[in-house]
Amino acid sequence: MIENIEKVTIKKCPKCRKSHAFRVRVRRTKALAFAAAGGFDDGPLKERFIRSFVCPETSLDFESKFSVTVDSGSMVKSVKILGAWQPDQS
Ligand SMILES: [Zn+2]
Repeated sequence: MIENIEKVTIKKCPKCRKSHAFRVRVRRTKALAFAAAGGFDDGPLKERFIRSFVCPETSLDFESKFSVTVDSGSMVKSVKILGAWQPDQS
């Protein structure tokens, strides 16, 4: 299991119309051979998810689609929204 904290940007918040960045925990596992055989030759793929976010301006929650990069050697097991991205966090 590989766990990363990634930055997801919502370009236009449906609550306040601003752009927000969120911290998202992404867990990946190594892809099985047959799952990777389907033609990942075009570079990184994106897998789309829908999750609830909380607007940091209004504290209202909303659902949004976002995408997570999937490379040929791994598959996404879970994504979890941790909260708003702070510039001084890495
Ligand atoms: Zn907002």
